[in-house]
Amino acid sequence: MQYPEWIWHNGSIKPWAEATTHVMSHALHYGSSVFEGIRCYRTPNGPAIFRLTEHNRRLFASARIYDMAMPYSLEQLNAACREVVLKNGLEQAYLRPVAYRGLGGFGLSAETPTDVAVAAWHMGPYLGEGVLEAGIDACVSSWQRFAPNTIPAGAKAGGNYLSGQLVAREARRLGFGEGIALASTGLLSEGAGENLFLVFDGALHTTPVSAALLNGITRNTIITLARDAGIPVVERDLPREYLYLCDELFMCGTAAEITPIRSVDGRQVGSGEAGPLTRRVQQMFFGLFDGTTPDRYGWLEPLEG
Ligand code: PMP
Repeated sequence: MQYPEWIWHNGSIKPWAEATTHVMSHALHYGSSVFEGIRCYRTPNGPAIFRLTEHNRRLFASARIYDMAMPYSLEQLNAACREVVLKNGLEQAYLRPVAYRGLGGFGLSAETPTDVAVAAWHMGPYLGEGVLEAGIDACVSSWQRFAPNTIPAGAKAGGNYLSGQLVAREARRLGFGEGIALASTGLLSEGAGENLFLVFDGALHTTPVSAALLNGITRNTIITLARDAGIPVVERDLPREYLYLCDELFMCGTAAEITPIRSVDGRQVGSGEAGPLTRRVQQMFFGLFDGTTPDRYGWLEPLEG
């Protein structure tokens, strides 16, 4: 990764190397951070941060779940996101706001300050070059997601990504592009860092928020665009074997965008290529950024807004 020059940290823009935190920071020991991943795209009307406010709202919701005081307002955080992209001279970027319990006291219940940073850098397709077209080979992980009464999957918290690391690293070690996890119920949950869509008979089926998953903003975008286009969308519990039976399968997330899955556990999905509905969803999604899909909901928040 090539680091950018500037980063926003605790209220001001600083050189990348100066945005440091103490080794005794609470978050480092106890996983107490909440974060977001947001993309800025080039559009015919100039660069726009996709659903910036929605992402930062989710950051505040994650902080609220963990009783973490946020020292900035939503507007201030939105402004920080814009500032760091502009300062680095980026147009296409991945943004990473993070709020974490910093240095102060010791122990799980210590009253620690919340430190906040926003980084932005150029990032291509998360799961590798060419995967948006060719798709990836996925596997079902031997690791399950956490049970709903243990760690809240609805918070995008640093600690949750221990689960994601087990799933993703196991998959890579076995030669797969990404891992898919089951929930503690044994039913399908989501990818290590992506939500899942299965296609049956021209309808999109996606796992429900009760299946130990992060309620993805890309997932919501796809559901909204599909329903507006008259494509049926069903949110439902799905058993593992449906991965082997569906006509098409794809993963989605801010980083992964819309990545087709061409096989699961070595079994070909559908034709083994991105299927027609997957391609249509990709077209609708990426069409938001080239202007071919109207931005009916004000999702494109101008960089210089
Ligand atoms: N699930 C997990 C575990 C994730 O980390 C992500 C990426 N943030 C997603 C789903 C997709 O969420 P979004 O579309 O909001 O990026």
